[in-house]
Amino acid sequence: MTLAPFACDPAFSRGRRFAEIPAPTRTDYQRDRDRIVHSSAFRRLVYKTQVFLNHEGDLFRTRLTHSLEVAQLGRSVARTLGLNEDLVEAIALAHDLGHTPFGHAGQDALNDCMAEHGGFEHNLQSLRVVDELEERYPDFNGLNLTFETREGILKHCSASNALALEASEPGGVAQRFLPPATPDAVRLQPSLEAQLCNLADEISYNAHDIDDGVRSGLITLEQLREVELFESFRMQAMVKHPQLGDDSQGRRLLYDTIRRMLSAQVYDVIEATRNALSKATPGDADEARRAGPLLCFSANMRNQSSMLKRFLYQNLYRHPQVVQTTDQAKQVVRDLFEFFMHHPRSLQAGFSARAQALQAADTTGRARVVADYIAGMTDRFAMHQHRHLTGKVLSETQN
Ligand code: MG
Repeated sequence: MTLAPFACDPAFSRGRRFAEIPAPTRTDYQRDRDRIVHSSAFRRLVYKTQVFLNHEGDLFRTRLTHSLEVAQLGRSVARTLGLNEDLVEAIALAHDLGHTPFGHAGQDALNDCMAEHGGFEHNLQSLRVVDELEERYPDFNGLNLTFETREGILKHCSASNALALEASEPGGVAQRFLPPATPDAVRLQPSLEAQLCNLADEISYNAHDIDDGVRSGLITLEQLREVELFESFRMQAMVKHPQLGDDSQGRRLLYDTIRRMLSAQVYDVIEATRNALSKATPGDADEARRAGPLLCFSANMRNQSSMLKRFLYQNLYRHPQVVQTTDQAKQVVRDLFEFFMHHPRSLQAGFSARAQALQAADTTGRARVVADYIAGMTDRFAMHQHRHLTGKVLSETQN
């Protein structure tokens, strides 16, 4: 792999929190990737969802397939730009590890439950998973990943949480979220590899949510014609393959349109980023961090992608059928939170031990243990626990 000068090079990694002997056959980023793939949290992604719940169909994306799509897309852009593919892959595979069951609904509900205890942020939770919650190594908690992978995982962080993180790791991954020392101080970006993962995330969920949305019947190809980005490639597909308009062709028109749309976005990112890089000319990865966001869409594609996002928000994520199931999902999370706050001994062994080690009056400490436990649940485990512990049956569809 030939790295561009502005790529992250494992030889210059800022290293791990606990020093380790380098692996003989793998770079540090490859080792990070392997640790993530072997983690329990990674395996649970298969039963966690984004928009649709697991029981609604076997063909919808899960967080696992989403993460694989982000890694694939990110790697192919990284290869073209001379960025570090292994680092991109590690960040992409880890970026959703901290997500709660039931997608954004679960996260909102858990954040509400945690309102008086520091809140709940899924990016910070992904970092907690790899820093604290995985218990696999004799000498430390977590996976002890490199700074660069952890930096990419912490995509956003509130100022208050950044302060707390900074206290335990001065000058670490939270530093760039602290209020700037002077008003004109440069706001640091994460590495270009991390910036790429953010954009690959956006490109992939926009595309696969169209796919899942149409297959679920909640949005139609007809409705999508109002989205310029989709419509222009649908027309292109029809010109090239007029037979795709025929019903007998099934979803080939949808897939061909999405494929064209994906390619156009990837080429756009590559070109716009090359332009930004040739203006900024960062000489190394740290100069790239100081140069403002460089990994980007062109202005036109940024606009088109935002319009597509808006369409999906209005027509899919806020669809009454989606809202109904997400309301039930929120109820499950709230009930579980309340139950475990009152019955911390019912938490799984490791969590229960953590809760029992706390002072009885330390409700914030207990709330964090409960939040960690619930956040780690898969959709179906949360449903099962809810039924088992509360005896409530929410609806027929939730089997
Ligand atoms: Mg994602």
